[in-house]
Amino acid sequence: MMKGRERLMNHDQQGVPEVLSELGTRTSGLRPEEVAARMQTYGANALAQNQKPSLKQKALEQLKDPMILVLAGAAALSGAFQEWIDMAIILVVVAVNTVLGIMQEQKAEKALEALKRMGAPYSRVRRGGDVMQIKSEEIVPGDIVILETGDAVPADMRLTASASLRVEEAALTGESHPVDKNTEVPQAGNDTELPLGNRTNMAYMGTSVTYGHGEGVVTATGMRTEMGKIAGILLNTKEEKTPLQKKLAAFSKLLSIMVLLICAAIFILSVFRSGSITGKLVFDSLLTAISLAVAAIPEGLVVVVTLVLSIGVTRMSARNAIIRRMTAVETLGCTQVICTDKTGTLTENKMTVAETLGQEDILAKAMALCTTVLKTKEGYAGDPTEIALVEYAGKILRDFDYAVYEKADEAPFDSGRKMMSVFYHTPSGTVTQYTKGAVDKVLLQCSRMLENGKIVDLSQERLEQIVEKNHEMADNALRVLAAAYQEYYELPQNVSPESVETDMIFIGLAGMTDPIRPEVFDAMANCTKAGIKPVMITGDHRDTAVAIARRLKILDNDDQALTGSQIARMSDRELDENISRISVYARVQPEHKVRIVSAWKRRGKITAMTGDGVNDAPAMKVADIGVGMGITGTDVTKNVADMVLADDNFASIIFAVQEGRRIYENIRKAIQYLLSSNLAEILAILTATILGYTIFAPIHILWINLITDTFPAIALGREEAEADGMGKPPRNPADSIFSDHLGTEVVAQGVIIGLLTLWSFLIGHAQGELTGMTMAFFTLSMSEIFHSLNLRSRTQSLFKIKGHNQSLIDAMLASFLLTLSVVYIPGFHEIFRLEPLSAVNFLSALGIAFLIIPLTELTKLLKRRTQKKKT
Ligand code: ATP
Repeated sequence: MMKGRERLMNHDQQGVPEVLSELGTRTSGLRPEEVAARMQTYGANALAQNQKPSLKQKALEQLKDPMILVLAGAAALSGAFQEWIDMAIILVVVAVNTVLGIMQEQKAEKALEALKRMGAPYSRVRRGGDVMQIKSEEIVPGDIVILETGDAVPADMRLTASASLRVEEAALTGESHPVDKNTEVPQAGNDTELPLGNRTNMAYMGTSVTYGHGEGVVTATGMRTEMGKIAGILLNTKEEKTPLQKKLAAFSKLLSIMVLLICAAIFILSVFRSGSITGKLVFDSLLTAISLAVAAIPEGLVVVVTLVLSIGVTRMSARNAIIRRMTAVETLGCTQVICTDKTGTLTENKMTVAETLGQEDILAKAMALCTTVLKTKEGYAGDPTEIALVEYAGKILRDFDYAVYEKADEAPFDSGRKMMSVFYHTPSGTVTQYTKGAVDKVLLQCSRMLENGKIVDLSQERLEQIVEKNHEMADNALRVLAAAYQEYYELPQNVSPESVETDMIFIGLAGMTDPIRPEVFDAMANCTKAGIKPVMITGDHRDTAVAIARRLKILDNDDQALTGSQIARMSDRELDENISRISVYARVQPEHKVRIVSAWKRRGKITAMTGDGVNDAPAMKVADIGVGMGITGTDVTKNVADMVLADDNFASIIFAVQEGRRIYENIRKAIQYLLSSNLAEILAILTATILGYTIFAPIHILWINLITDTFPAIALGREEAEADGMGKPPRNPADSIFSDHLGTEVVAQGVIIGLLTLWSFLIGHAQGELTGMTMAFFTLSMSEIFHSLNLRSRTQSLFKIKGHNQSLIDAMLASFLLTLSVVYIPGFHEIFRLEPLSAVNFLSALGIAFLIIPLTELTKLLKRRTQKKKT
C-alpha cells in the first residue's frame, strides 16, 4: 500500500504514456466496467464532511437556553414543595420543547443540505471515447478529465494536453498568482521531491482554471488527493446567522436577563411586603415570578425565524434561485441596484446566424474552425455563440464535419482582448491561423481583406463600409463577430496573442440573433416598479446593447450608455458623478465591473451583480449579492456567489428579490404576533398580581407560548406576498425590526389582548377561582388564534386580503383543538389546573377574544388614513 502511494506522488516525474499505463487507462478514457470496478475500490470522489453534532450534543445545546434553565429551576422548586404534578408537567414541557427544537433544527438543516446537493459540481470526462458530463463525485482514478477556463479542478491529475492552461492554486500553495501548466516533466534537481507549486504538469483538486483549457488523467480522488491530505481545510463553509437572526438572538438574551431581574425584584418585594415569611408564601411568590418570566421570554422567536427562513430558501430554490449564503435572503429584500449581464441572463443565449458580410463559404469555415466546441453524443457542447457558428457552417458547407479537423495550437478567448485564434496544419504543409472576435478589436489588427477571393488592402473606404455594416447589424440587436485569417510556413514558436493576432486578413462578419427571454420584459417592469435600478453590463458592442436595452425599456436616451473605453478614461470621481444616470455599459473589461459596483457602493446602494466568467469573481465579491449563473457560469463564480440561478434567468433574480421582501415582512409579522402575545401575558399577570389575584399558573403560559402560539407564527411565515410587496421602494437595511410602527403596534395589541384576558378573568372569577383562570386561559388562547388572522397583513383589512393561506387555517384549527383538549378532556384539565367551561362561559370567553379582530381592524383603518394624509 505504502509503495503504491509513493509511486502516486511521483506522477509529475513520469511521461504521459507511463502515467496512463500505470493507471491502467488511455486517452479515450475508461470503459464503463472499469469505472464501476474502480468506484468499488476507491469510493466517491468527495472529501469527508465535518463531523455533525450528535443528537446528544444538539439536545444539550437546546438545554442551554436560559428559558429552559428557568423552567428547570421551577421544576426543582415544585419538587422541593412536593408539588409533584406541577413538577411533572414542567418537565414534560421542557422535554417536548427540546424535542420540537431539535426536530425543527433538523428540518432546517435538511432543507439546506438538499440545497447543497443541488449545487454539487459537475465535470466533463471522456469515457469509452465519448465526452460526457458527470457529477464530480463520480470521478475515479484513471478518468480523463477535460478542463475549461473557470472550472474547479475536481481531482488530482497529471495533465495530458494543455492549451495555454493557467491554474490558480492559492487554496493549496497560498500563491494567488495563476501558474502556467503544460504536459512536460519539470526538472526536479537532486532527486528531491518537487514542491506542489512547481509541479507544472499536475493539477490539483480545489484549484481552478483561470485561462486556457486542457486534459488530464486522474491520479487521485477524494481523501487521497493533496486537498484531502490537508485535514481541517474542508470546503464546507460554516452556516452564518443572518443579521436578523443575530439581532433577534441579542434581543432575546437582553429580554431574558431583564425579565429575570424584574422577577427577582417582584419575588423579593412580595415576600417581604407580607411581613411574615411562610413556606407557602415563598412558593406562591416564586410561582408568580416564574409565570412572569415564562410569559416574557419569547421562547419561540428564534426557532420561528430560523424555520421561516429555511422554508423560504426551499421555496426560492424551487423557483431556480439557489441561496448559498443565508444572509443573502435578507440582503435581497433590500436590493437597490441589480447589475446584470446581457447574454444568457436577459437573452436566451440561443444564437442563430441571421446576417453576414463577406464570402459565406470561407467565412463559415473560418468561424466554425475557430471554436472550442466539443462534439458529444447529445450534440454540440460549449459556448452557444460558437455552437451557432458551427451549425451555420454545417448549413452553408455541405459535408462539413467540424470534428475531423485537428488543431495544431491556439490562443484561447478571453473577455479582456475579446478574440481568439486557432491554428491548423493544411494538406500543403503550411499552417493557417483563424481568428474571430469583437468586430472593433479584430479590425484593428487587420491590414488586408479578402474581396471576391482576392487579398486586397484594407483601405479607409473599405474599412468604413465594414464599420457601417457592423453598426447596422448591431442596431438590430444582433451580436456581431468578425473573422480573419493568416498563413504561415510553419507553426509559430510562440502563439502569444500579441505576436499572432496582428497584421491579419479580414474575412467577414456574422451577425447572430439572441432573442430576449419573454419573461424578462415583465420582470424588468417589476424591477423598476419596485424602485430597483437595473443596469446592463455587457462585453458586447454598444449598439447591440443599446438596442436590447431600449426593447427592455431600461434606457430611453443614448447618453445613458457608456463603453468600457469611456470608463477607462474616467476618474473614480467622474464615474461617481455619472453612476446613477447610466443604465448600459458596453464593451466592458472585467475590471470595469469592479469599478461600477464599487461606485454604487460608495453611493451607499445595496448592489447585486451577476457573473459567469472567471474574471467576474472579483466584482461579485465586492457586490452585496454576487449572483452566479447555474448553466453558463464557471465553478469559480459559483463558488463566490451568494445566490446561484439554476436557469441563468434575470426573471429569477426579481423573483428572489420579491421572496426576500416577502420573507422579511412575514418574519416581522411573526415577531409582532409572538411579542404582542408575550406582552399581553405580562400585563395580565402584573395587573392581576397588583389586584391580588392569581390569573395564570406557569403551565398555562408555557402551553400558550410553546404550543398554541408557535403553529400560527410559523404559518404567518408562509403568507403570500402582499399586493404592494413589489410596489414600494426597497427597505433600508439599517432599519430596525421594529421600524414602521411595529413596536407601537406590539404595545397596542399587547395591551388590548391583556385587557380582554383580564375582563374574561373577572367574569369567571366571580363564579370561582378555577373558572376565572380557565376563562382567562381560554380568552388569551383564542384571541391569539384570532389575532394571527389580523397579522396576515399589517395594513390591509383582513377582509380585503386576496390570497389564501391554508397552513394558517390548519394551524388555527390545530391550536383551537389543543386548547379545547386541555379544557375539556377529563384528566387533562385537572393536570392543567383548568375546568370545563359552561356553554355561556365558553361563548362569553370566545366572544371577548373575538373582539381583537374588530379592534385591530380599527387601528389598521386609522393607520391607512394617516398614511393617506401623509402622501
Ligand atoms: P455578457 O457580458 O452580457 O455576457 P458577452 O458574452 O458579449 O456579454 P464577453 O463574453 O465578455 O461578453 O464577450 C465580449 C465580446 O467578445 C463579445 O461581444 C464578442 O464580440 C466577443 N466574443 C464572445 N465570445 C467569443 C468567442 N467565443 N470567440 C470570439 N469572440 C467572442
